Amino acid sequence: MLSHTNEQGAPIIVIMGPPGSGKGTQGDLLEHNGVLKKVSTGDILRSHVKRGTDLGKKVSAIIDAGKFVSDEILAELVECELNSLSKTPVLLDGYPRNEKQAKNFGQSKAFSRLIKVIFLSVSKDFLVKRLLGRLVCSSCGTTFHLKSLPPKLDGLCDGCGGDLISRNDDAKEIVERRLVQYEKETEPLLNYYNKLGLLETVDGRSDPKEVYVEIMSKINKITKNHRSTG
Ligand code: AMP
Repeated sequence: MLSHTNEQGAPIIVIMGPPGSGKGTQGDLLEHNGVLKKVSTGDILRSHVKRGTDLGKKVSAIIDAGKFVSDEILAELVECELNSLSKTPVLLDGYPRNEKQAKNFGQSKAFSRLIKVIFLSVSKDFLVKRLLGRLVCSSCGTTFHLKSLPPKLDGLCDGCGGDLISRNDDAKEIVERRLVQYEKETEPLLNYYNKLGLLETVDGRSDPKEVYVEIMSKINKITKNHRSTG
């Protein structure tokens, strides 16, 4: 696991990028290899929907329509999750997603643990193709892709053998809506984190394994810098 826990707690890295840039896949790889624990707001919300909790009932239609769940719900969900993982290095995927969420996050206790924001840069035309071929395990949530990351057995998860399905919000019109929303609301945060000196950009168009190697080299650089600066 990523070290250099300080008095505030274990480090947090945020992974940002448009829908389909590979945040989930990279999160799975980083978690699988024991580097960081993935905390994905999308996965947490989908798990509530699947379990039929009160929260799940409230957000199900919003998620299927590709719209944003309220900032208040997200702030509470993320704060609770990060506080319960105060000693675990975390990769935060899917949060913050707009200015208000970045502000809420900036005011939360967990913010002092944030050491970097990794941005997966991918051009827009690439994304639509990617999202339309995406498959997700209905049981453990691992992501596959018909072309770039096919499962070993058709329709079945390599890890747990669960059935692979397409997400409802990966339908073409909804994908387009999510991309527009990303450009309008999430993309401006890159500038904000860049000004704070926290942003690292990684080319997300390559093969997932190559992207992973690049992310790891950034993470190793961060760890080394932190060690040398005390
Ligand atoms: P994701 O798996 O990150 O693409 O998230 C799937 C869906 O969950 C999004 O389209 C939103 O409906 C909801 N969601 C996840 N994270 C957030 C967030 N930070 N703010 C608002 N809605 C979110």
